[in-house]
Amino acid sequence: MIRKIFSLLVFLSLLLTTMAQNADQVFKAAGSPVNPKVPISWNRYNDHAGITDICRKIAKAHPDLAKLESIGKSYEGRDIWVLTVTDFKSGSPDQKPGMYIDGNIHSNEVQGAEFALYTAWYLTETFHDTRFIKELLADKVFYIVPSINPDGRDSYFHAPNTGSSPRSGVIPVDNDRDGLVDEDGYDDLDGDNEILMMRRKNPRGRYRVDPTDPRRMIQVGVDEVGEYELLGLEGKDNDGDGLVNEDGYTFQYDPNRDWGWGWQPNYIQGGAYKYPFSLPENRAVMEFVMKHPNIAAAQSYHNAGGMILRGPGDPTDQVTYNPADVRVYDAIAQKGEELIPGYKYLVVHKDLYPAYGGELDWFYGGRGVYTYSNELWTPFLFFNKPATRGAQDESSFLFDRWLLFKDAFVDWHEFDHPQYGKIEIGGFKKNFGRAHPGFLLESDAHRNMSFTIYHAYHTPKLVIDSLQETNLGGGLKKNHGYRFEYTFNAYPFEP
Ligand SMILES: [Zn+2]
Repeated sequence: MIRKIFSLLVFLSLLLTTMAQNADQVFKAAGSPVNPKVPISWNRYNDHAGITDICRKIAKAHPDLAKLESIGKSYEGRDIWVLTVTDFKSGSPDQKPGMYIDGNIHSNEVQGAEFALYTAWYLTETFHDTRFIKELLADKVFYIVPSINPDGRDSYFHAPNTGSSPRSGVIPVDNDRDGLVDEDGYDDLDGDNEILMMRRKNPRGRYRVDPTDPRRMIQVGVDEVGEYELLGLEGKDNDGDGLVNEDGYTFQYDPNRDWGWGWQPNYIQGGAYKYPFSLPENRAVMEFVMKHPNIAAAQSYHNAGGMILRGPGDPTDQVTYNPADVRVYDAIAQKGEELIPGYKYLVVHKDLYPAYGGELDWFYGGRGVYTYSNELWTPFLFFNKPATRGAQDESSFLFDRWLLFKDAFVDWHEFDHPQYGKIEIGGFKKNFGRAHPGFLLESDAHRNMSFTIYHAYHTPKLVIDSLQETNLGGGLKKNHGYRFEYTFNAYPFEP
């Protein structure tokens, strides 16, 4: 018994020493909280339970700066969390201009949640030491929703996927209208929770192995002899029709085509699903935003490509984005390009593709809120120079080899395929290509946060400097003679 108690004490003391750092032993790095109340490692990803845990810890450790509430439930019943971050002692949040931030609307675009959480963590942990943050939270409120698609997020982490699947949430959809749902999507043949590539030895194949890196397949020239054929992503013929993966991945509706501005049905905008806000997660966000007319700025986080995007996504919309507002968009985004190396400011429909019923357009068109969508992660960050992002591109392999020590790649290994016979399976894991590698996650989260802070700072500064009231009797009062200031302040660090 005594030995048991003793070992329990040893265990507890070990637990305590690993939880908090000794303040005397740490030296403050510039711009980061030196000994945060909530220690979090920003070099990994959190599933919904992990996000819930971090949100609760932040709200508990900083009761005067952060409050946690659920704005609704996902399709599968997960809470959609919002952290309201402001200096609650300096006035009601509803009276302050609001900056709304969300991430992860696309299931596989996961780091937006960490970037959003980092923002909540940073604001609360630096509030007492950083004058600028203190003044910011006196004047503004941040509404931070780490994941507006928690079902899709958990599915991405815990079910077999590529880096690009699933895009939507998890509502079953019969894509090919044969009455069956997901009857022939991808299959995790070797059971490693990844959907990788399949290749088969074939002298007439169009690929050979890169002599400098045997993991990489390169295409042969027209007159050259190949070694391998690529058979696509991991899968088999489940419905006996002789085709493999012909349904692609299931759940092909797109949560970012479901918003009530410029919405178009599925035959015009693939992925539109049923009607605007037919997805419970988006509806919860819409209702939250409608209840908070003080929201004046917004940010949604996607991946990938290193972009700061504004609308319109709707190419036919010539009127919503008026020239005066576009100048504001341009000015804030240009600062963003400076703050986040490798990121380019672009317009969705002009520089990417048409996107009807997107979140950006609803926030701006429906609510008049300046909104950006950042496509997080760019291969520029491999070696801090321009690079391409194709999975077979050399830069991916070099980065993985020299900086990740080949952790991001599953080596080719043999598999007996029911239709193809002897094949090999291998390729980059789902955590590489679109998501940040661990050691670059905190850095880019910080830079993107600094862009949202710049944006939030430039919401109007509201001042009521005098208010006169006359009592009219019978419980009636007349307000008059008040002056209402609506100004944009210069950012403190600008000349
Ligand atoms: Zn996206």
